[in-house]
Amino acid sequence: MGNSPGIERKEGETMSIAAANTYVDWQTQAWMTDGLCAGRSDLFFAPFAERPEARVRRESKARGLCEACASTVECRAYARDNRELGFWGAESESERATAGFAPTTPIIGRRQVAARRAAAALAEAG
Ligand code: SF4
Repeated sequence: MGNSPGIERKEGETMSIAAANTYVDWQTQAWMTDGLCAGRSDLFFAPFAERPEARVRRESKARGLCEACASTVECRAYARDNRELGFWGAESESERATAGFAPTTPIIGRRQVAARRAAAALAEAG
């Protein structure tokens, strides 16, 4: 499967209904296979009750990987389009929010994105 930040599923692994609802809009993107973040979820997503100083250190390390990654542009665009949580494409959640792409709550946000895309596809088809 894809190697986007924090999503490490094995070939053939199935998702629960709850997980499928959470990832209702998930599709593996070609650029994800080139990501340098594979296996480094600890750098790309905040642990519970992370202190601000620890966040700065963690995101600095994540940014270093992103800046060396061939997928930065595609990754950042994907995260903005999908209102992702976490650090994607050399951009933190707060940087994404400042750019106008604030994350929404995980399930509701993904459902809203999926609903907008479905409506656009229907409008295009009709
Ligand atoms: S740009 Fe960063 S978050 Fe995106 S795939 Fe590359 S290493 Fe991972």
